[in-house]
Parts: sequence; structure tokens; C-alpha cells
Amino acid sequence: MNKRVVVVGGGIAGLAAAHRLHTLRPDLDVVLLDQRDRPGGKLSTGELAGRPVERGAESFLVGGPSAAIELAREVGLGDAVVHPTGARAAVAINGVLQDLPTGTLMGIPLQGAEEAAATPILGTDRDVSVGELIRPRRGDEVVDHFVEPLLGGVYAGRADRLSVRMALPALAKAAEHHTTLSAALAEATASSAGREPGAPIFGAIDGGMSRFVDAITATLPDVRTNTTVRELEQHNGGWRLTTGPTRDPRTLDADAVILAVPAAPAARLLQRAIDLEYASIALVALVLPSTKLPDLSGFLVPATEGLTIKAVTFFDRKWAHLRRPDTTILRASIGRHGDEEQLQRTDEELKDRVRTEVARLIGVDALPEELAFGVYRWGGALPQYAPGHQARIRALRESLQDTAPIAVAGAAYDGVGIPACITSGRTAAAAVLARLGE
Ligand SMILES: Cc1cc2nc3c(=O)[nH]c(=O)nc-3n(C[C@H](O)[C@H](O)[C@H](O)COP(=O)(O)OP(=O)(O)OC[C@H]3O[C@@H](n4cnc5c(N)ncnc54)[C@H](O)[C@@H]3O)c2cc1C
Repeated sequence: MNKRVVVVGGGIAGLAAAHRLHTLRPDLDVVLLDQRDRPGGKLSTGELAGRPVERGAESFLVGGPSAAIELAREVGLGDAVVHPTGARAAVAINGVLQDLPTGTLMGIPLQGAEEAAATPILGTDRDVSVGELIRPRRGDEVVDHFVEPLLGGVYAGRADRLSVRMALPALAKAAEHHTTLSAALAEATASSAGREPGAPIFGAIDGGMSRFVDAITATLPDVRTNTTVRELEQHNGGWRLTTGPTRDPRTLDADAVILAVPAAPAARLLQRAIDLEYASIALVALVLPSTKLPDLSGFLVPATEGLTIKAVTFFDRKWAHLRRPDTTILRASIGRHGDEEQLQRTDEELKDRVRTEVARLIGVDALPEELAFGVYRWGGALPQYAPGHQARIRALRESLQDTAPIAVAGAAYDGVGIPACITSGRTAAAAVLARLGE
């Protein structure tokens, strides 16, 4: 009988893991399970007033070799990868939109007045928050106005709580052997210096993220949705998974398992503590009749502005393939880690807030009446990697070496972005194949 590998969780990490397993070893019985009625996890394209709208992730990093582009090509979507128009992004400071500074790393100016320290600014075994590394060397304003809003766009997190090793890995690595932040920044940005000027940094899929999910899913031999894995136990040198309702449990045996689910279900299934908090967010999309919007891809709103919205994207300014003559779409994001009470509001209240705050910031009395709106709530959406995250995950993975073959993958462990999740899934696939002695 062929060996069976079960991938639990059909988000992009689980999809990438299953795709890699099936591609490398078509003889294996690869089964992907997801509790929802469709795979994709945080990748999900909906529709509003006949227009596609991303309910979750919108784009992926493509600077340098990109796991997302590779995977898109592997599933026949190489030609569907599109790039932003190059419209600028702004940041709201004291109620006024201004250009985001260029020539920075995540909003950190590459040069600054600072004295060289006696030793490298980050010990090899140390991890600190982004704020702890940057505030003393570039000042609070840089962190509050630029670094935190940019990080917030990715993590909905706070600069003073996020691990610099997770959020800015190239900078953290460079900081291990430089005594000034400027020298570390120079090294961290050098790898992108050879890139062609104007080369795109982001990509998306024409047709939406669900098209990406569907294309990956179509390559897989056995995908079972509406299947929640409730228990996992070692059995005959492999694993026994229990699924289905408590009164009518089903079991599925596997020689190896890849767990590609968020930290809470992973901890429950593994019966191990995984110390990781998540931020919840909501996205509010408005379809408006064609109206004059600023010529920006969008703008960020620092927490210091005291508003509900955290960021706004003008979809058809940012993406040429989304432009339509009669309508325009904007999408606002709400919710920061540790300050999620805004999310208690009703959909209608959130929509009204977005309308009022966006109108005020772009300098109009009111936005035109929307043709449709959607509120997409993501509870426990974005992992908040506290300093020391990598060491904790290393320890977790080491503790799983003594069990039957298993690997963990996804945003809970290796980074929040789509390419990082794809790489995490592929690495997990390679790890279980190695443990199966293949
Ligand atoms: C609103 C939003 C916008 C984002 N925007 C971007 C962006 O533009 N670019 C970017 O790169 N990243 C973005 N991200 C981050 C990125 O989308 C996620 O980090 C990534 O998709 C997570 O993938 P994953 O496979 O690790 O987990 P998930 O997508 O969370 O998938 C986990 C899957 O496991 C399933 N599951 C959970 N428990 C069980 C169980 N017990 N049994 C069976 N199945 C189970 C779930 O149903 C889910 O499908 C965004 C995230 C959010 C929430």
C-alpha cells in the first residue's frame, strides 16, 4: 500500500505543502483536510456589485526569487501575475495625507545621527522588539509615524511588541555584526540594490486569490473540505486523526502529518503550548460610483491619529486590471493588536466610520453613496511574533523529532506573508519526506 501523508489545513501553507508532496512523489497518497467549505484560509475572493473584491490577502511580495511566483507558474498561472501601477502611497500625519518617505527600510531612514556602540547592536542570540532597536537610534517619531504604520499594514501589530528577527530579518542578521544601525541598514538593503530600478515589489493574481487557490487545489489528488481534525494521536508508528462530529467520529490513519493550521488548533492537536498571540482585524470594502479620489494607491493611518481606520487601499488606483469606467472600490482595514474594541461595532457602524474618516482625510465633505459594501471580519487573523519567537518555534520543532513523522507549517511559525507561508509548507513537505526515509 502507498504511504499516506495527511496535510491538515488548506490555507496557502497547507496547499503549498500538499502540492510539493504530490509533485515530488505522485505515488504517495496525499490527503488535504480543511474544516471550512473551501480551501484557501486567508486567501478568499468575494464579489460586490459584480466586482471581485479580496476579503483577505490581496497581493504578495515578488522582490527577488518569489515562492509565490514559482507556485503560480507551477499551477499554470504564470501569465496571470499582475503588478501594481506604481501609484504612490501616503501616510496621514496630523490629519493630512503626505507622501511616505522613500529610500527607507520599512520606514526607517537609512542614515541617522548615532554613535557607534562598543559591540554589535544585536547579540547573536538576542531578539528584541522593532521599537527597542529603532527608537533609540532614529527617534520615536520615525517609529510612530512610519515604521509602525508600515508594520501595521502587515501584522496589525505594534512596533514595541514585534520581534525584529521576524519582522525585519535581513536587518536583524546585519545588526549582529555592525555597531551602528546605519551600517546594518546599508547591508540589509544591499541585496535589493542590484534590482532593476522600478522592478515590481508586489504581485497579485488577475482573477483574484481564490483563482490561485482553485488552481493549486485542482492539482491535488484528494481534498476534503468540511473536515475538522479534532484529535491527533500516534498510532502504529504513524498517526491516527479523528474528524467529524463527536457523536459520529471518523478516523483516518497516516504515515506522516503536516499541520498547517493556526497556533490554537495546532497546540490543541499537538497537546503542546504554543505561545503566540493573534490580532483580529476587519476589512471594509466600499463600491462607489466613479468619483474623484486622490491619485494614490492608498494611505496608512498611524495609531497616533486616533482614528478607527488603520489603512486604506484605492483598488483601482493601485491595480490597473481592476479599473472599471463606472465604479471604484476602496477597502479600509480596522483593528490593531491590543486595541480591538473598534471591531465590536456593527457592520453598518464600521462602514459609516470608514466613510467619514476617509472623506475627512481626502478633503471632501462626503463620499458618494456606496453601491454596495462588505465587511470581512477575521478573528485571530495575524500572528504577533513577540521577541524570541524563532527560538520558541525551534524548540517546538525539536520536540516533534521524537514522535512519528510530523511537521508544522504556516504563518504561526515562519512569517505572515504568502511567500513565507508557501516556503514554510514546502519545507514541511521536504521534512516529512526525509522522516519517512524517502
Ligand atoms: C485580512 C488579511 C489580509 C492579508 N493580506 C495579505 C497580503 O496582502 N499579502 C500577504 O502576503 N499576506 C497577507 N495576509 C497574511 C496571509 O494571508 C496569511 O498569513 C496566510 O494566508 C496564512 O496562511 P496559512 O496557510 O498559514 O494559514 P490560514 O490561511 O489560516 O489557513 C489555515 C487553514 O486551516 C484550517 N483549519 C484550522 N483548524 C483546522 C482543523 N482543526 N482541521 C482542519 N482544518 C483546520 C482553516 O480552515 C484554514 O483554511 C493577510 C491576512 C489577512 C487576515
